[in-house]
Amino acid sequence: MSSPKPNVDLFDKCDTDSGYFGLFRKENDYYFSRPILDPHPGARMMFEGRACVQWSINNYLGLAENEALRALSVAAAQRYGSGAPMGSRMMTGNTEMHRELESRLADFLEKEASILFNYGYLGVIGTISSLVGRNDTIVFDKLSHASMVDGVMGSRAEFRVFRHNDMNSLESRLKRINQNRKGGVLIVTEGVFGMQGDLADLPNICELKEKYGARLYVDDAHGFGVMGAGGQGTAAYFGVHDRLDIYFGTFAKAFAAIGGVSAADQRVIDWIRYNARTQVFAKSLPMIYVTVLLKTLEIIRKDHQRRERMWANAEKLKTGLRQLGFTVGAVPSPITPVYVPAGDKEIGKKMVRRIRDQGVFITGVMYPVVPRGIILFRMIPTASHTEEDIQRTLQAFKKVRDDMKLELMPSALQKN
Ligand code: PMP
Repeated sequence: MSSPKPNVDLFDKCDTDSGYFGLFRKENDYYFSRPILDPHPGARMMFEGRACVQWSINNYLGLAENEALRALSVAAAQRYGSGAPMGSRMMTGNTEMHRELESRLADFLEKEASILFNYGYLGVIGTISSLVGRNDTIVFDKLSHASMVDGVMGSRAEFRVFRHNDMNSLESRLKRINQNRKGGVLIVTEGVFGMQGDLADLPNICELKEKYGARLYVDDAHGFGVMGAGGQGTAAYFGVHDRLDIYFGTFAKAFAAIGGVSAADQRVIDWIRYNARTQVFAKSLPMIYVTVLLKTLEIIRKDHQRRERMWANAEKLKTGLRQLGFTVGAVPSPITPVYVPAGDKEIGKKMVRRIRDQGVFITGVMYPVVPRGIILFRMIPTASHTEEDIQRTLQAFKKVRDDMKLELMPSALQKN
């Protein structure tokens, strides 16, 4: 008699190299994935016992090293402990300071209201899945961050994907949906695409959403505090901020903290507040973060020099790398994507090692984080990098170019 026990087990895959980054998992890698860095974020960080220039953290405005914010978090910890308040906002975790922070964020983002989330990831999922349901349709950009994809999947709405930033593709999806429309339509996109640094074509997306009666949600994780003259984000950069229906930002990047925020009309935020399962059923954002974020927002609103320093550093880094012959994406965000020649994984790995060996920490990014066939170093210039950091980095790239005899494109042929 055959055994009632099938000969396949759920955990069999754990012994294979399948799954995301399966080869790194099999090798128990701590170099390309999960590198051990010291816990002090900044333009210089310790890696394998040496101080490296750090280009891989989203510390756009250099606020991770800000002494005043650090002192404030110590004071808040002393006053409230690490766990306060207890319970979800719906039950026992609401405070005047949470409300105050939401009201100031709404004011900054020029929307009627806003709602806090504990993580950006959970904020994206909660916002999208609370607003759309069975009869609705979501249309999202193919390169949208995993949190948006998970929000879409968790919403039970129908969905369509449009080709990355391709307005013809978006329009044809919207047209098709309207032929047999049963409910609402939400267009979902990033503002700054976090890996390659390009911007969503928000002016045209706004035109299309108005033409076809859809709503627009923009996850501006990388644009919040960074893009636009006052740091209000990518739509502000394009002058279409008032046409966004829902703006989303995370505190994990330029704000150098943790958490996220959605901002929209009051009635929309009230709906999200009562229906976003990722926050309704979760403990509220700790007081330490609420206290510090009130101050961080004040700094971001007043201190425009930080953004200017970040832009100046981005310009120097991009120009310097192009002059050495490297292909750097011609994007209007500070993100500096440096493409590995021919998208070759082995060349990419060798370059990472050789550049890190010279005290410059960079990170390679590959599928599934970026489309197949592309490997890039995603470098984030910040307000706290110095001229010396940039020069040291350019020297390291130059040495690697020469030592590895890399075949690069002359900078004259590159788009700027
Ligand atoms: N959206 C985008 C576009 C992101 O890049 C990220 C972070 N990588 C998130 C959402 C998630 O934000 P958080 O890290 O605050 O959870």
